[in-house]
Amino acid sequence: MYDIIIIGGGAAGLFAAAAASRLSGGKSLKGLILEGGPEPGQKLLLTGAGQCNLTHDGSIKDFPAHYGKNGGKIRSVLYGFSNVALRRFLEEQGLETVCREDGKIYPASFSARQVRDHLVGKAKENGFEILTGQKVTDILPGDGFRITTEQDLFTAKRVLVCTGGCSFPATGSDGSLFSVLERMGITVTPCRPALVPVTVEGYPYGPLSGASVKSARITAETGDASEGDLLFTHRTFSGPAALHISRYVRPGSRIRIDHFPEMDRGEALRSLAALRRTKAEGRKESFTVFREFFASRGLPEALLRILFETEGADPHRRFAEMPAVEWEKILDRIFRDPFTVSGTAGFSAAMVTAGGVELKEVYPKTMESRKFPGLYFAGEVLDADGDTGGYNLQFAFSSAWAAMKDICDKHL
Ligand SMILES: Cc1cc2nc3c(=O)[nH]c(=O)nc-3n(C[C@H](O)[C@H](O)[C@H](O)COP(=O)(O)OP(=O)(O)OC[C@H]3O[C@@H](n4cnc5c(N)ncnc54)[C@H](O)[C@@H]3O)c2cc1C
Repeated sequence: MYDIIIIGGGAAGLFAAAAASRLSGGKSLKGLILEGGPEPGQKLLLTGAGQCNLTHDGSIKDFPAHYGKNGGKIRSVLYGFSNVALRRFLEEQGLETVCREDGKIYPASFSARQVRDHLVGKAKENGFEILTGQKVTDILPGDGFRITTEQDLFTAKRVLVCTGGCSFPATGSDGSLFSVLERMGITVTPCRPALVPVTVEGYPYGPLSGASVKSARITAETGDASEGDLLFTHRTFSGPAALHISRYVRPGSRIRIDHFPEMDRGEALRSLAALRRTKAEGRKESFTVFREFFASRGLPEALLRILFETEGADPHRRFAEMPAVEWEKILDRIFRDPFTVSGTAGFSAAMVTAGGVELKEVYPKTMESRKFPGLYFAGEVLDADGDTGGYNLQFAFSSAWAAMKDICDKHL
């Protein structure tokens, strides 16, 4: 009989085990992590493009707004173990962190592997065994909990479920435990991909694949908007601007992309009209004028080319002879490029999962199940998903801290 079994050795599970000794006041725990995959923390290794964006700078009071409609419901756990507390905790354990100019916080080594190895090391130091290749297929509450995996049976006084969502299933977070939880009578909000590239009808930017607009603004018909880098892939809009807006769109939603928010359309129109009136500019090929005006300010030249092509504008025509309706159409595309969303790139490309165990299933300060005392949840298995920028790992760590703290406070 273990004191605690953690199901899932990802960010939340490893962090809970790594924090156990601090939270138990040094008392030893007989703990076990059951990880379904071949090694713990496979997704953690991918975070922040291998650099691991641990959390974000700023006041913790600003954090809940970064988790959509459920942000208010996770306020207690975020406040209970904040971004500042996280940095302090990691640094006390010897893992230095740094804050980038954009407010994103990373390990000073910029190595997700270092974070993963650090947490695994601390978990083991705290007396946790880590068994890999142990996919849990059933949880039976009774006198404690009986946990069945594909191979074995384990028993524990407490269980902390940290099995993540459904995104990037190749990392082991395949959503397989949700059906087990539903069988137990725990309500699970249907999962859907979030922070995911968006697909649109008639996507014209395949040839631009790999190029990006430094700062674009995407506005959904709900009025929600996101601003940031916009990356063009073969079939999707990606990059932070697209990932953020994915939360607010469904197939059929209309979106508008402003590829050049540093200026408004009227201002660009007036500047170009003034250029057109000058002899030197009026004589130039129209594409050259647009390139000099926009590409010199960072808009990819290749994007302008596609706009000329798709709007049927002759790039070689002298600017003075370019029909006003033609260059206005190009400005429309630059400032409010309209699309109908056809879907997303799906779970295989989604950074997080929206949906999961309903937050009303758990006590908001402790993450303990209301239905099954002794059963706890942390991380993405819960119905909370955040923006890019470190908010998802912060929630994984804060909720793991809250759960492990309650386990230690109440049961040791
Ligand atoms: C490419 C990518 C980059 C990201 N970058 C960042 C970033 O820089 N900053 C940030 O804040 N967030 C980032 N995220 C999101 C972040 O990684 C997740 O929100 C976070 O890992 C969630 O932690 P978790 O422990 O809840 O789940 P996971 O880390 O997904 O861990 C769940 C674990 O449970 C195991 N498991 C699942 N089912 C079972 C089962 N039945 N039995 C046993 N084990 C099971 C899985 O194998 C997995 O190891 C990124 C996500 C992706 C995909």
